[in-house]
Amino acid sequence: MPNSLDDDIRFLRHVGPARAEDFARLGVRTVRDLVFTFPRDLADRSRIHTVADSPENRPVSIIARPVGVEERVVPRRRGGGRRSLTVTVFEMTDDAGGVLEVTWFNQPWLRDKLLNRRVLVHGKATRDRGRLVMEHPQYEVVPDDAPLDSLNFGRIVPIYPCTGGLTQAVWRRAMAAAIDTRLDLAEEPLPPGVLREKGFPGVREAVRSIHFPASPEEWRRARARLAWEESLLLQTALLASRRHARHDLPGRRFAVGPELDNRIRRLFPFKLTPAQDRAVRDIVRDMESGLPMRRLLQGDVGSGKTAVALYAMLAAVANRAQVCIMAPTSLLARQHRDTCERFLAASDNARVRVSLLVGGMTQAERAVALERIASGSADIVAATHSAFGADVNFHDLGLVVIDEQHKFGVRQRALMVQKGIRPDMLVMTATPIPRSLALSVYGDLDLSVIDELPPGRKPVKTLLHFRRDAGAGWKLARAELARGRQAFVVSPLVEENEDLDLESAEEAFRDLGAGELGGYRLALLHGRMKRGEQREVMDRFRAGALDVVVSTIVVEVGVDVPNASVMVVLHAERFGLAQLHQLRGRVGRGADRGYFIMISDSRAGEAGERLSALLATGDGFAIAEADLRIRGPGDFTGTRQHGLAALKIVDLVADIDLIADSRETARRILAADPDLTERDHLPLRRELAARYGRRWDRLGL
Ligand code: ADP
Ligand code: MG
Repeated sequence: MPNSLDDDIRFLRHVGPARAEDFARLGVRTVRDLVFTFPRDLADRSRIHTVADSPENRPVSIIARPVGVEERVVPRRRGGGRRSLTVTVFEMTDDAGGVLEVTWFNQPWLRDKLLNRRVLVHGKATRDRGRLVMEHPQYEVVPDDAPLDSLNFGRIVPIYPCTGGLTQAVWRRAMAAAIDTRLDLAEEPLPPGVLREKGFPGVREAVRSIHFPASPEEWRRARARLAWEESLLLQTALLASRRHARHDLPGRRFAVGPELDNRIRRLFPFKLTPAQDRAVRDIVRDMESGLPMRRLLQGDVGSGKTAVALYAMLAAVANRAQVCIMAPTSLLARQHRDTCERFLAASDNARVRVSLLVGGMTQAERAVALERIASGSADIVAATHSAFGADVNFHDLGLVVIDEQHKFGVRQRALMVQKGIRPDMLVMTATPIPRSLALSVYGDLDLSVIDELPPGRKPVKTLLHFRRDAGAGWKLARAELARGRQAFVVSPLVEENEDLDLESAEEAFRDLGAGELGGYRLALLHGRMKRGEQREVMDRFRAGALDVVVSTIVVEVGVDVPNASVMVVLHAERFGLAQLHQLRGRVGRGADRGYFIMISDSRAGEAGERLSALLATGDGFAIAEADLRIRGPGDFTGTRQHGLAALKIVDLVADIDLIADSRETARRILAADPDLTERDHLPLRRELAARYGRRWDRLGL
């Protein structure tokens, strides 16, 4: 049988069945798996030192010949028993006559193996009375009359990420064997035009160079190409899935003329910011096209996403379609309902009817809501997860808006889409996602970004206090309360927990009421309270009948109380960066300055990095990038891991430009050849199938 990249690696020289099993435990089974496992780092061992020019206390490689050996057996007491230690000391001389003393412990066989041969030793050396001394170096016997030809020394060597108990030397040997015998079989997935345009090395050259580069520059070129290719494959799959989704049935075509545009804008008590305007234009273009909108609207908390969504919703309703706006909590769904009604109150024709559909409604209430939804007498439905129910049937759902999309899964989004005939979908997130991540994870969505806050907004002042200095924070809070402002206090815990030395919301509520915030009207709010009670607390807070809400994280998302100017977070180190940033966005929503006071006892480690990032910047995107750096991409994405899992080389922080660039190429390729059936695109198509399966063009659907 001819060699193939899909051969089991146990057929490679130096591998064999036992090692193949060790590799298999890391998911490396075929030659392809092996050569596409790239080194995480390189070590430059290209220089060979002599004894004379060898620095101390840094790894050095020296080639020398053991000319004498001394062996001692040292008795040693250990744990009651007696053991002995064999010490083998070689005296070695290098080609320039320098003398080196090398010691190994408990390896007596080295005597016969090394004596009078040429040996490369690699390790840290020190000087002792003019002699260079090395203990337990790595070593390799070097042929007498040939130049050094080693995978491990005298060159830039690859360092592999997780070795599964196999040594780096074993990895390198297996890799070299794979490259020597099978790499010629690798097919070039990039179309020739792209290779030329980008000036990339071919795939074989690139793979060889990423493992065994002749120079760091060669390695960088190889890495750049392979990362670009990896990103191109993902972007092609993502864009193709979207095309696939659109192929079967066109979406509806809404009409949004200047007259309607005017009517909607008149409902807003403010002028849209330029960033909001851009987003609205993107959305109108989508809605007017005959294809279903799939758009992600990103904007920091308070940037005015809701107003943009409202525009889209009213445009859809004016076209006689129903709209469902989904929120992760009933608190937020109610808030959306109220916002809609508030804006619509300014309308001269009050024909738009808003309904609510949330958990915790009585059977009768739900029945009424369902009837309105089914008959079409509800134009806008503000809903929570309860809208997924099989008993929820829309008369004609034309637009789905999903707020705080990261609280919903892909499948849930798909469920909503199935409740209409290819409705438009607008998903919103206040968790800014670095652009690179958005493109990689939500690559099947178009992206609009609101990157400025409404005018007159003062940045929130962020403070960090140790618990023992918290008095200063409370003093500031009191000053704001005295001016008629309101405050949130957030704790990570609902109630006391004996195992954790944390002040719970319940304790904070008691202590603050009797102490630092005595005399003000406080209320407790947490997720274990009945929904009705939660709602009542928020209603009273919003109406100004309460000064302070002490709560758990339930206030995290979307709550809009413009008069609240202080947010105090207890045990801030227990919260994630995005969460803290969200909490910060709850204040400073009016014209007055907001204060974000973090109280924490720990500034160590990752928690400290998070708190510092918050102190350093108020820009949500900068925060998101910091978060990505600190935590890595895993947590950003919820269920949408498929794309990220495919990214092994691409660095989501460093490679933003490369991702955007490859996406552009993917778009161009698919525009010219949607099914990748042209000859130049067939290898790309095969590679996509190899990575993402036969249905690569349905990724994420
Ligand atoms: P987000 O949903 O992005 O967090 P919202 O849409 O809730 O933000 O807007 C935050 C606040 O800013 C709201 O009180 C809203 O009425 C107000 N707002 C939105 N857009 C503007 C604008 N262009 N000018 C002034 N205020 C605005
Ligand atoms: Mg919002």
